[in-house]
Amino acid sequence: MRNVQLIFGCLLLVLAAALPQAFQNPYYLHLVVVIGIYAVLLFGMDILVGYTGEVSLGHAGLFAVGAYTAGLISTKLGLPFYAAVPAAMAVTAVFGGLLAFPALRVTGPYLAMVTLAFSTIIMILINEMDFLTNGPQGLQVQKPVFFDHRLTSEEFYYVVLAAVVLSFIAVTRILRSPLGRAFEALRGSPVAADCMGVNVYRYKVLAFVISATFAGLAGSLFSYSEEYIAPNGFGFELNVLFLLALILGGKKSRVGAILGASVVVLLPNWLSDLALFHSLVVGLVVIVALAVGAGLVRKRFTPRQVALPCLALAVFVVFAFNITDITEQRLTIFGLMMLAVIYYLPNGVMGFLKAPFVRLKADQSAATNLSKPRAVALWETDKSAQSSSEPLFMAKDIVMQFGGLKALNKVTLSITSGSIHGLIGPNGSGKSTMMNVITGIYVPIAGAAVFDGHSIVGRPPSKIALGGIARTFQNVQLFGEMSVLENVLVAFNHTFHRGLPAILLNLPGYRTEQQAAKDKALNILDFMGLKSLRDEEARNLPYGKQRLLEIGRALALKPRMLLLDEPAAGLTAPDIADLVQIIKKIRDHGVTVVLIEHHMDMVMSICDTVTVLDFGQKIAEGKPAVVQSDPRVIEAYLGGSAVEPEPEPSSEPGVPHVLIQKEA
Ligand code: ADP
Ligand code: MG
Repeated sequence: MRNVQLIFGCLLLVLAAALPQAFQNPYYLHLVVVIGIYAVLLFGMDILVGYTGEVSLGHAGLFAVGAYTAGLISTKLGLPFYAAVPAAMAVTAVFGGLLAFPALRVTGPYLAMVTLAFSTIIMILINEMDFLTNGPQGLQVQKPVFFDHRLTSEEFYYVVLAAVVLSFIAVTRILRSPLGRAFEALRGSPVAADCMGVNVYRYKVLAFVISATFAGLAGSLFSYSEEYIAPNGFGFELNVLFLLALILGGKKSRVGAILGASVVVLLPNWLSDLALFHSLVVGLVVIVALAVGAGLVRKRFTPRQVALPCLALAVFVVFAFNITDITEQRLTIFGLMMLAVIYYLPNGVMGFLKAPFVRLKADQSAATNLSKPRAVALWETDKSAQSSSEPLFMAKDIVMQFGGLKALNKVTLSITSGSIHGLIGPNGSGKSTMMNVITGIYVPIAGAAVFDGHSIVGRPPSKIALGGIARTFQNVQLFGEMSVLENVLVAFNHTFHRGLPAILLNLPGYRTEQQAAKDKALNILDFMGLKSLRDEEARNLPYGKQRLLEIGRALALKPRMLLLDEPAAGLTAPDIADLVQIIKKIRDHGVTVVLIEHHMDMVMSICDTVTVLDFGQKIAEGKPAVVQSDPRVIEAYLGGSAVEPEPEPSSEPGVPHVLIQKEA
């Protein structure tokens, strides 16, 4: 597949290189240059919107910053192209960093508003700062000079082509690197990313900065290509156009970005010529007819489903062949076409084209036999660290309050190194809250927590994770759109020490790190029995496998303490039996395990110590058998208003699921 892509890419490149010879008309060449420039911007914007999942309506502002910086440097300072472009990229990167700050606090529609405001402010500033920018009159820029020769439009085309190719490679390498995986993890689950040692703030800012750098490159190329820039060229419409191009082409795809850029640049031009517009409509009818026909034959649509769109298309065709003057209707038609495409192809053109392959892959992996967990060693165990009776973790008088409710009321907990420590109690008793306190997601209002001799209160989750505490979540928090292997690789991010230059140049040292991380991740998948599913998207896994994957991902941190929040919930009996074996093996690797579980047979059989919480207070602690017969514990399970979930059918009949059954 990689080779096919490479050959296809080279072919396209040869075609692109021959383009100036093919076009006699300089106007068309100019359109292609604009497509290339937009594509560079969209590559970067996709990092933010597609991978990190942050909406941006501020990229026109960044584009303007790049254009004006390059324009001003070349006109006012008279510096050459190869100084102006990097400077523009750097300045835009700084602005991107500024734009990141609101994104650390707000997301979704609010972030869209903030970024839009940012872009508007940039426009106003350019308008107002007459002394520097010439205000509304704009700035004249000339084509770059190389070795005393001013480039012609045709020669500049090759500069843009080179920029597109280099940006394509750079963005692809970034996205395949630990950076890209961190960005995508932020989208999947920020809280899980944090708990895997991926600092959410740091990587969000990085995503904005990298994205802005490409906007800066695109902007600077734009000023040289147009030879004239004015503030009204970077307005609201351009923001919408960029976002539209990205969605239209398909997020998370470089080819999609090029396609999207082509559509938003070419379509309005085609719409200005009636004859061209008519042939476009005919083409559209043919494509829709083919798609609908194929869909009906393969029973993917019912006739009723396609009736409305076909009717709408018919009305559109009648309208299209009845108008005599297209210039007035241009924007309306453009808008309608865009709406239709986005409505019917929510994943963009590339998403639509890729769909059959994704389905094929899913079918294939569903057909492969699911492997059992295997008895492979996770890592060399350090025997000396294993057998100590010292507490690895100590919490004293932890208080955690939500409004008036004390979810944890002076809880003291001591976890012995190398043990499996059960944490049980009725629903709402504060078990998960305790886990969130230990992993830094909540900061307790009082109390102390010490792990391995260091206080962890107030430390950010990513630091705590890298310090040796890994966890899973009660409601599974995987990076859904990433593959099983990538999910585990995210937690290996801390093993990478090479920086961005090594990634961009794909240096051997960095490649070794990638390979090492991949080998270790595959070993973990083998251990968990998930190796055959390595390329499957995490969200497509059956629920039980998702839970196992989450444990595998946590193991990638090579933790000293592993917290499992109801790992057996929703698992079938044979899966639970596997899980018990896995947990024991993890403990044998020297990892201390804290287990929150409702399956009492499991808790009683594998835990060395059990702590019982009720209404935020510790009511019992000790060996499982002792705790089990404690009257306060029985009372908590019987008398509490909290309702126990229906126990899963057990693999061993006669073994009680909840404490009280045994006592009754
Ligand atoms: P458990 O895991 O033992 O079932 P939790 O620790 O999830 O219980 O919850 C303990 C109590 O704290 C519950 O009453 C719950 O509603 C409350 N709680 C937990 N997290 C929050 C939160 N973020 N905001 C408000 N209340 C919360
Ligand atoms: Mg819970």
